[in-house]
Amino acid sequence: MTTKQNTTEDEEDDVRRHDLSASAIKTHNKCPRQYELTYESGLPRDDTNQYLVVGSLVHDSLEEVLNEYVENGSEFESENRIARKLKREFYTREDSGDYDTVLVEDYLRDSAIDSLDTAAKYLVKRNPDIRGIEVKSFFELSEIKASALGYMDVCTQDEIWDWKTGSAPDEDSEDEDEVIQGSLYMGAFYHEYGELPERINFVYIKEGTVRSIDASQDNWDKMLQRARLLMNSVRSDHYPARPEESKCYWCSYEQYCSASPVSIQQVQEEIEDGNVDYWEAV
Ligand code: SF4
Repeated sequence: MTTKQNTTEDEEDDVRRHDLSASAIKTHNKCPRQYELTYESGLPRDDTNQYLVVGSLVHDSLEEVLNEYVENGSEFESENRIARKLKREFYTREDSGDYDTVLVEDYLRDSAIDSLDTAAKYLVKRNPDIRGIEVKSFFELSEIKASALGYMDVCTQDEIWDWKTGSAPDEDSEDEDEVIQGSLYMGAFYHEYGELPERINFVYIKEGTVRSIDASQDNWDKMLQRARLLMNSVRSDHYPARPEESKCYWCSYEQYCSASPVSIQQVQEEIEDGNVDYWEAV
């Protein structure tokens, strides 16, 4: 692995343009057109997506409480106490008006609150020696001449933890998204601390499962290969669509994509061809 020390001041880092992030590489790996629509088109993002809103509430609550423990030098000893603090933080944030919770359904909110119990359990079980929380690291991937941002939820002395509020992948086998995300974070950890973590843990707090990937050269190379494909797309301005029902269903930009059956163009063509009347189409 080769990373190059970045000398930019911290304040400037926040506004610095970076080429790559874990989500950008994952999105491009699924569908280059989705990457283009998400990152290059200037279309507005859907900030009201209830899964994203709940995910932010959970992540921000964990960040706040973990910071408090680290600042006070407290051990993660009492599961009940940690869970109580996490839930109190969740409710406070929910009531703050800073999160667009209008569309969040009750079952999703309840499940998010339950997942905080699981997070508390994991913290007590591991009682981590935390190096950093919400560590944002900008670094260079000199192999592909691109800059990257790794945004790690928790860095311990030898691990990276990523809180996951969604469902874990079905299979026990390797998951491409986890390899991409974990390996990019591996580069960020190395850049921050000058050594590699032993592993990257994805903590699925809704289900109480933990999946890990090793900080191996093999995983790094796999991530780098996907990152290179993204940079090739960007440099050639070529973003082919890869429609698949399972991907398009979850794509926020389905209506803007000509490859999707529900895109504005496709619906227009169907109407013009007389295959469907206007009211059916809408
Ligand atoms: S609708 Fe499907 S093909 Fe189009 S950008 Fe989204 S995922 Fe890709």
